[in-house]
Amino acid sequence: MDMEHHISDRVDALTPSQTLAVSAKAKQLRAEGKDVIGLGAGEPDFDTPEHIKAAAVQALADGFTRYTPSGGIPELREAIAEKFYRDNRLRYSAKQIVVSCGGKHSCYNAVQALCNAGDEVIVPSPYWVSYPEIVSLASARTVILPTTIETDFKVTPEQLDKAINDRTRLLILNSPSNPTGTVYTPGEIRALADICVERGVYILSDDIYERILYDEARHCSPAVFSEKHYQRTVIVHGFAKAWSMTGWRLGFMAAPEPVAKAVDALQSHCTSNPTSFAQKGGLAALSGSMAHLDEWLKQFDRRRLSALERLRKMKGIRCNKPQGAYYLFPNISGTGLSSGEFCNRLLEEHLVAAVPGSAFGADDYIRLSYATDLESLETGLDRMADFLRDLNGNDPVPEP
Ligand SMILES: *Cc1c(COP(=O)(O)O)cnc(C)c1O
Repeated sequence: MDMEHHISDRVDALTPSQTLAVSAKAKQLRAEGKDVIGLGAGEPDFDTPEHIKAAAVQALADGFTRYTPSGGIPELREAIAEKFYRDNRLRYSAKQIVVSCGGKHSCYNAVQALCNAGDEVIVPSPYWVSYPEIVSLASARTVILPTTIETDFKVTPEQLDKAINDRTRLLILNSPSNPTGTVYTPGEIRALADICVERGVYILSDDIYERILYDEARHCSPAVFSEKHYQRTVIVHGFAKAWSMTGWRLGFMAAPEPVAKAVDALQSHCTSNPTSFAQKGGLAALSGSMAHLDEWLKQFDRRRLSALERLRKMKGIRCNKPQGAYYLFPNISGTGLSSGEFCNRLLEEHLVAAVPGSAFGADDYIRLSYATDLESLETGLDRMADFLRDLNGNDPVPEP
């Protein structure tokens, strides 16, 4: 029997993640026996370090399998507070920390806790796919500040100042950025944060790629500049990237106490606590060695430079040098194709999976992830070079 089903307007309005759609298509081609190279992944290709896995296994063996406090176990919240002091010179008490089921969940919680229906949230584009959807789930409105490769994908203080009005509640900043790899300097963060403080706008600082930096790049949190900046900043972070724990679903937030309290209340009715034994893994991650990361960064950096060298030889492609995360965000406007067409043909004709920039609000670009081994990455880019030669044929494409 055919039944009519009613999906709420709120959920019906969501766009299914395009990142996942690319993965699904690549998987299907692989199942057909095709040798697909995946440059679409948003997660490190490394395994979670052994000492972290061992701590979770031990927690299970010890029967640490019950509900915990909704905002996380006290010793993990303490360890996270210590991390902020150690790495960022920011003082938080355990009460200001909420542990959640991933950094994405922490973002969701923060927007739910801070935004009323009709409030405006400023999101620089290219943006992480989930931000606008998270905003619309709070019945708030996303105001996009577009940036391009020419300004290294950075919004200017003037742009921000103009976009703020009485309804503006929040600015979302993500440095290092997914998808562009852009890292704002401390001075640039300060200029944006000063405006937010002056105009009474909160900043959600998504610091998930804090440790994934190259060359001279430095991470900076908007909370560091003064007590006022601290009071306006909500930091979202997690274990997914620097400890390669994407599947563990463990993230956290640091915020002024009333905000943290509100988020804890919200979480207590949605997910309750993040998984008990995953929290023990998180504790081991924060108290253990970070030696693995030096090795990972060396590999990421080699891949970054190799990929960049190949991209820069391709006609119709322009790419800047990202300073963080593990993505390249080349401009493809010189090819005359939309990002969707480009990625479809790259996958179907040359068996390379990449994510169209349209998923990030930037149709002139594609996102390539170098969270894959060097050999696959180089093969993938050689295939992309073949694709561009096919596209360009014999007529020289005018340089953009
Ligand atoms: C990966 C990522 C996150 C968090 O991911 P979780 O798996 O939910 O911890 C948050 N923000 C950005 C920009 C990311 O790329």
